[in-house]
Amino acid sequence: MKTVLPGSTIGVLGSGQLGRMFAIAARRMGYRVHTYSPDRDSPTGQIADIEIDAPYEDLDRVRAFASAVDVVTFEFENVPAATAEAAAECALVRPAGNVLHVTQHRLREKMFLRDHGFPVTRFAAIREASDLIDIGPAILKTAGFGYDGKGQYRVKSVTDAEGAWNVMGRTEAVLEAIVDFDAELSVIGVRGVDGECVFYAPSWNQHTDGILDVSSAPAPLGEKLQNEAIEITRALLEQLDVTGVLCVEFFLTRDGQLLINELAPRPHNSGHLTIDACITSQFEQQLRSVCGLPLGSTQMLRPAAMANLLGDVWAAGEPNWAAACAIPEIKLHLYGKLAPRPGRKMGHLTATADSPHEAEQLVRTARARLLNRPA
Ligand code: AMP
Repeated sequence: MKTVLPGSTIGVLGSGQLGRMFAIAARRMGYRVHTYSPDRDSPTGQIADIEIDAPYEDLDRVRAFASAVDVVTFEFENVPAATAEAAAECALVRPAGNVLHVTQHRLREKMFLRDHGFPVTRFAAIREASDLIDIGPAILKTAGFGYDGKGQYRVKSVTDAEGAWNVMGRTEAVLEAIVDFDAELSVIGVRGVDGECVFYAPSWNQHTDGILDVSSAPAPLGEKLQNEAIEITRALLEQLDVTGVLCVEFFLTRDGQLLINELAPRPHNSGHLTIDACITSQFEQQLRSVCGLPLGSTQMLRPAAMANLLGDVWAAGEPNWAAACAIPEIKLHLYGKLAPRPGRKMGHLTATADSPHEAEQLVRTARARLLNRPA
């Protein structure tokens, strides 16, 4: 088993904020970082030693990129399979491409979960019009390339579903029964090259318009549910043979059942608070696992909450950063993105406090202050 030591170079496929926070952790530990994506002056590229700006389909460039680094990882799971395969011809790729294959396609992921006995909401695979069956109130989701509620349509009936499927261009989709949930939770687990697994305390996640808005941790779960969520995450890390980070998003139904919503084979937005609240952040764990180093402690030093900053925060001009930073427990994270489009994740705020509830109040107050312009 190869250990990639500090001083070595890590290649990151993708160049968004997840790669940026990974690169910051990697640089701190003395690694060099190269990033590959079709973008320039990207969130990851601003931190990396080298930013390759080329299409994922240019497999010769991908091979050259991989040949120049010691290990390749990715920061988003929609990297085309052929890209990951080309990289694997020239370098170690962690997690391996099979994890991408399952998790980058909603239908494949749902079927994998159901066929391996994991709890998921009722769903139908939609490949032709006759697959659109009545499962009550449902969400029609595209099978590929969906995230943050994009490519999703709420439907009340089969007729609605047909209309939505037409709008979607009659592409492969999943029709998923709406879950009457009490809460949304996530568990981030990490698996090292030797199979060792560690887990963070579950986060409680609040969404607005299908996009994560606020996470807080530890989620107020009883011990039994917490253990159940962690054991499901462990089983998934093992069954998918992940070397790296895996986030499992759950619905907690009103009758106390955990159902898996989706998987992300990488650090997750709901784990950003681990940077300021835990001994080892989810990004440092990604680094340690893909490099074959021992994993760090996931212990939380203080309860915490995170609030996303979407482009909408810029709608009336530059946010009032000083007003938010005037709350001493607030940590500001900005991703270096130049265009603050509505719905675009531009940064986040984290607060630590004596309880997750207090931390949540602090991040919400700080975010509201961003909109109060100085007199
Ligand atoms: P996704 O991109 O699939 O994670 O969906 C984004 C958000 O939409 C989720 O976090 C939920 O808030 C909501 N959502 C997605 N699927 C369902 C479902 N089957 N039932 C209820 N809410 C859902």
